[in-house]
Amino acid sequence: MSNEFDHIVVGGGISGLTKAYSLQKQGLKVLLLEKANRTGGVIHSKITECGVTELGPNSLALTPILGQLIEELGLNDQLIKANEVANKRYIYLKGKPVLINPKTLLFGSKVIGLGSKIKLLSERFKSAQDIPNESLADAIKRRFNNEILSNLVEPVITGIYAGSPEKLEYKSSMKRMFVMEQEHGSFTKGFLASRKSGSKREIVSFNKGLQQLTDALRDKLENVRYEAVESISLPNDRVMVKTNERNYEANGLTLAVPAYAAAELLQPMDGDIAQRINQVEYPSLLGWQVTFKTTSITKRIPSFGILFPSKSKKVIKGIINYSEIFGTNDDCRHFTVFAAANTENIEKVEQQVKEEFSSVYEVVDEPIESIFSFYEKAIPQFNVGHSELMKILDEWERQHPQIEILGNWRTGVAIGDCINQKNVCC
Ligand SMILES: Cc1cc2nc3c(=O)[nH]c(=O)nc-3n(C[C@H](O)[C@H](O)[C@H](O)COP(=O)(O)OP(=O)(O)OC[C@H]3O[C@@H](n4cnc5c(N)ncnc54)[C@H](O)[C@@H]3O)c2cc1C
Repeated sequence: MSNEFDHIVVGGGISGLTKAYSLQKQGLKVLLLEKANRTGGVIHSKITECGVTELGPNSLALTPILGQLIEELGLNDQLIKANEVANKRYIYLKGKPVLINPKTLLFGSKVIGLGSKIKLLSERFKSAQDIPNESLADAIKRRFNNEILSNLVEPVITGIYAGSPEKLEYKSSMKRMFVMEQEHGSFTKGFLASRKSGSKREIVSFNKGLQQLTDALRDKLENVRYEAVESISLPNDRVMVKTNERNYEANGLTLAVPAYAAAELLQPMDGDIAQRINQVEYPSLLGWQVTFKTTSITKRIPSFGILFPSKSKKVIKGIINYSEIFGTNDDCRHFTVFAAANTENIEKVEQQVKEEFSSVYEVVDEPIESIFSFYEKAIPQFNVGHSELMKILDEWERQHPQIEILGNWRTGVAIGDCINQKNVCC
């Protein structure tokens, strides 16, 4: 078996799989190396009696490139689209879930008070600013106010990053919002323009879960090996990769691994860049994948789910109503619940999660399936300084043209962002 390739991709998550697939399509001999015994990375679906249990992400927003990729992979007939009800989202405020409806936010809504409604209406008259190192919290306070930050932005941000708007960098973590402010002069004007142009993205998954996408990509690849990469080097402008099993050689290399894993591999080559990359923070997260018989749940809240702002004082950060979004089996109700936890308090948080969930949905019986998943390093934080780090990495890649550095911490955390990379697909 030859150990020489045109290109090696390290990491078999969605970022690495799409990269390897795209290079192979361009005619290159590509090897994908994955340290686990399966591809998909955090995307991990399981078929159960009641349908699908997602052990990682639950859904994705359909981008044009993703649509083409799905067609190319022959997955169109497996694609499932979110039910209409998924357009509804709730925020847990003053002890109960309150509906957020963009159409009634200004008039009927109880999520924000009159002062905030005036701020929403007047934001369009404020001029755009690009403040270096501005946090998301500061940007929201600059354009709106504290209440909009705590009741609307913070819970939504927690749903994406499981992080804090005080630490996240405005222009990196909410790129779309930042661009709207720069291009349209205000976020409100940009938001209205995007609605007019019909650029709203559909929420989708697959009959057998999101892993169908990563499995289909893996099946297209000619060379996938389940080996952990231990070191990389660049002798004579070639790439040498050493795994726990053997050595490989190639002309080019893509690292599509989490930041802390990339830092470890780059350390012997460039300690300074490794140290900078290693500063990307990954908070831990507890997930509860739980299925009840429909009769065990007294209260039904048809919607995408419920977000919990920190002022709710709950350990739960978000509940995703998987059955309401994609469900086909009326006998079961499947949910994914996320909570903040760390290695020391997992058991206590698990108990609190069960109690809080029970009180929101008025649960009367035990679940038929209950899986707790602890993600020690869950989602990379695009904290203040992230855009600067990305510029430094762009320059580093120019100086080391054999190596490309990818992964959700480079491109954006949504699955669509990981696919929307240069050269990927179609
Ligand atoms: C709990 C959770 C829920 C989420 N929910 C959503 C959602 O609903 N919708 C959405 O759009 N996004 C969601 N996301 C975000 C999204 O799923 C991720 O950003 C994306 O899947 C990451 O893909 P990746 O390929 O960049 O990284 P990963 O999936 O982390 O893949 C990296 C791979 O590299 C491998 N690797 C690491 N080191 C080595 C090594 N030395 N040698 C070989 N292989 C190595 C790892 O084993 C792993 O398979 C969620 C994320 C999490 C954690």
